[in-house]
Amino acid sequence: MLTLQKDYPLKSLNTFGFDTVAENFIEIESRDRLVALVNYCQSNHFPLLVLGGGSNLILSDQIPGVVARMQIKGVEVISEQGDQLQLKVAAGENWHDIVVYAMSQGFFGLENLALIPGTVGAAPMQNIGAYGVELKDRVAWVDVLDTQTHQLLSLSSFDCQFSYRDSVFKSVEPGRYIITDVVFNLTRDATQLNLEYLALKDTCESLAKGLSITPYHVFDAVCQLRRQKLPDPAVIGNVGSFFKNPRVCVAEYERLKAEFPALVGFADGDGYKLAAGWLIEACGWKGKQLNAVGVYEKQALVLVNRGKGDRQQIETLAEQIRESVQQRFGVLLEVEPRFYP
Ligand code: FAD
Ligand code: NAP
Repeated sequence: MLTLQKDYPLKSLNTFGFDTVAENFIEIESRDRLVALVNYCQSNHFPLLVLGGGSNLILSDQIPGVVARMQIKGVEVISEQGDQLQLKVAAGENWHDIVVYAMSQGFFGLENLALIPGTVGAAPMQNIGAYGVELKDRVAWVDVLDTQTHQLLSLSSFDCQFSYRDSVFKSVEPGRYIITDVVFNLTRDATQLNLEYLALKDTCESLAKGLSITPYHVFDAVCQLRRQKLPDPAVIGNVGSFFKNPRVCVAEYERLKAEFPALVGFADGDGYKLAAGWLIEACGWKGKQLNAVGVYEKQALVLVNRGKGDRQQIETLAEQIRESVQQRFGVLLEVEPRFYP
């Protein structure tokens, strides 16, 4: 039996803290209930929003149809060979708790992705990434419910079409697949570290005090850096980076670098990735406030809700930022989180 709760408040279930109400709300704790819910929504022509931690969503005041909070739980090692192992994690598990759990078991590979808010099931959506590691680097496969065929399927990492903050789930076939589990390739080998990011390497070196850097140092360093620079959503509403880092071709990068020598950019494939935060800060937005919303004073890529902000205020601020970056640098910023509906 599916019991939907009417007019359910979502203020505490989205990290912007928007005062939003779902027409119908339900918590989903099993795959069977998920299948039943999809059937129910399709028969009644109800739109369905699968909600994880609400940390990458910009919600309107009223959400029509059904909001289903993903609560399927479970963690299991499903294979082991030498140092390598596969960890299967259900979609409703909290991402950071799973990183902590993996570290506690001596399973390494997720440490650069510590402290990212949200659920495991949402992580493949935008191929979460931080400090030089992306989810795609650690995913073996993803189990999903295909809402078109009503089958439970496994999609290989290749099928997921992961790319920079994107996947088949986010932009190719949005809404088609509901993720039920993610299987990670992890290792017990503590020497395979990614220290590409300078701030991470420096912090690890200072934590290791001359000894070898371990995945535990990486984990601690990532947590320390993130706590210094990012607002805690429990205190200040935000959804992390509001814009993606724009990609430009080599000629465009060279033109910009000649005109703005302080520009921050990194070689990326056959072009360059520009630090969107630098572009926004250079336009004078850092720390600016517009009504109840604003640009975080320690990282210009993060927009914040300091009280009674709503989607409209955020959209207005984001549009002004996009326009000024485009006018000054000729670069178009793309929004990273999802607007719903
Ligand atoms: P939600 O916001 O609940 O949902 C996001 C999208 O995924 C929605 O479209 C939703 O419908 C869909 N979805 C959720 N669960 C499922 C499911 N099981 N099946 C199908 N679709 C589903 N992101 C990064 O990549 N790197 C970072 O370093 C990072 N840092 C952040 C720091 C802060 C302070 C904050 C607030 C956000 C940050 N984010 C970061 C963004 C966000 O945390 C991630 O995108 C996270 O994976 C979203 O998880 P969620 O459970 O909150 O998803
Ligand atoms: P940062 O380390 O100050 O870096 C600023 C920018 O430079 C980032 O955009 C990062 O790109 C890029 N960068 C830095 N060193 C790099 C290197 N060695 N190679 C390639 N690119 C490099 O950024 P931050 O704001 O403190 O965030 C730290 C990490 O957490 C970043 O990876 C960031 O993506 C991630 N994060 C993501 C979100 C989100 O919501 N998506 C929110 C907070 C933090 P990348 O962004 O591509 O890594």
